[in-house]
Amino acid sequence: MPPIFGALEAGGTKMVCAAATAQGQILDRLTIPTRTPQETIPELLAFFRDKGLSALGVGSFGPLELDPRSPDYGVIQAAPKASWRGCPILALLRDGLGLPVGLDTDVNAAALGETLWGSARGTACSVYITVGTGVGLGVVIGGRPHHGMLHPEGGHVPVTRQSGDPLDPGVCDFHPSCLEGLASGPAIARRWGRPAQELGDRPEVWALEANYLAQAVCGYIMTLSPERVILGGGVMHQPQLLPLVRRETARLLGGYLPGRGLADLDTYIVAPGLGDDQGILGCVQLAADAYLASGGAL
Ligand code: ADP
Ligand code: ZN
Repeated sequence: MPPIFGALEAGGTKMVCAAATAQGQILDRLTIPTRTPQETIPELLAFFRDKGLSALGVGSFGPLELDPRSPDYGVIQAAPKASWRGCPILALLRDGLGLPVGLDTDVNAAALGETLWGSARGTACSVYITVGTGVGLGVVIGGRPHHGMLHPEGGHVPVTRQSGDPLDPGVCDFHPSCLEGLASGPAIARRWGRPAQELGDRPEVWALEANYLAQAVCGYIMTLSPERVILGGGVMHQPQLLPLVRRETARLLGGYLPGRGLADLDTYIVAPGLGDDQGILGCVQLAADAYLASGGAL
């Protein structure tokens, strides 16, 4: 019998659970609202418990401790929802299910999913940027999600405020002018007084948005040299935005980089290839990795 893997995309507003094959074929899924850990963890265990799983993969909001040598491994360090701060999500799921559990950030899982099955297939290094309620950056290097000291937090890179931007400071509690603070969905809504999805006919909204996103994308390109840049999340549902980001990125790069990928920005800066499933599919691979690490065979 080939193994079945559990996958959990743990978000601040919802939890997406799935059972899937190692090839990423989803057999069963359930979405539940994120309440307190006391309420939500038992609901998650109830979904995963009777599925005959060999391992679970989790992509979680964070910041998260991902170093297995740390006493805080698998503990949510900070979260918009206070009840999840300090929650040992990995231990609760591992001990509750008695299974190997692989863990990464939600955006690293998404970057991994896109690398295996989506828009970054065939690349060893890519970045996945989600522009939604927050802005997140997932980084794959050498085919693996990148951690380093903690994990990338590229939503909080500083960007240069544009003259005439009425939003000052941005909506981030920590930084007056970081990418998330100036370019997330809530930043757009606060700046213009209406939700981003109602501003499609206002070119100035998207010119400014494209500038902030392109500033960050330039930084990621210059620093990480990714082979592909994927932009996803609710705000990117504006169809005019991706071409604007490409154009603005080209302008800000200033013709400096000779990279092959940059010759055709339409195939270099791209939309996700997996709809909304890159996170959950990345979690399937995290589960497979945990299964192999625990001595399982595929
Ligand atoms: P989350 O980040 O909470 O997981 P999303 O990626 O869907 O969820 O992001 C939600 C944000 O995206 C909200 O701020 C919303 O205003 C914005 N958004 C959703 N749809 C659109 C749209 N069609 N155009 C612009 N912004 C949108
Ligand atoms: Zn910030």
